[in-house]
Amino acid sequence: MSSIPLADSDASSPPSITTGGEGLRITEIFYSLQGEARTVGLPTVFVRLTGCPLRCVYCDTAYAFSGGQMMSLGQILNEVASHRPRYVTVTGGEPLAQPNCLPLLEQLCDAGYEVSLETSGALPVAAVDKRVVKVLDLKTPASEEVQRNDYDNIAHLNAHDQVKFVICDRADYEWARFKLDQYQLADKVTDVLFSPSHGQLLGRELAGWILEDNLPVRMQLQLHKYLWDDAPGH
Ligand code: SF4
Repeated sequence: MSSIPLADSDASSPPSITTGGEGLRITEIFYSLQGEARTVGLPTVFVRLTGCPLRCVYCDTAYAFSGGQMMSLGQILNEVASHRPRYVTVTGGEPLAQPNCLPLLEQLCDAGYEVSLETSGALPVAAVDKRVVKVLDLKTPASEEVQRNDYDNIAHLNAHDQVKFVICDRADYEWARFKLDQYQLADKVTDVLFSPSHGQLLGRELAGWILEDNLPVRMQLQLHKYLWDDAPGH
């Protein structure tokens, strides 16, 4: 398994991302097992873009807020190809904070990969290539970024997309259950994901609530946290 670690860590300062030309600021590119969502456990290349305008209290990728290294689209595509993957996930930070994320997604699809995008749900997804599987977060109240949710994004979800709630406590669960019903999410996408916030809510507690309410959601645990304790590059 190889990776390009490119970032320095500064979780407290606001995002200051400089990009130019056709390049993207990249924190790391690495080959690992997908830790969550529908393709969990499958070997995947991750392209982690630098920068995020949000500051969720439970963020596990604060090292991607700043630093990184400029790479051209060609360099990124070459690095991805070197791993000969079937699956590629573009993540962050918030990848859509860099406009050149859109042509990157398109070119990854053109190259024949099964491409997914992990996005906070705070930035518009309307222009994302339709071949991309969007894994769209809806930020809960306990994330302290609930006001950033752009609910217009829901109209741009395709059936193959996924909506994810990271749930910190019972109040978050109730909120997520309400949104599930309000937007009829289970009818819009194949998978609605309920994930316990690691270290804040026990998985078995969330599992019990889901079963009690018979919700049409998929509960998930984050595999990479169990395998590699959330270390960068995995
Ligand atoms: S949106 Fe993601 S990367 Fe940004 S602060 Fe929240 S958890 Fe961290």
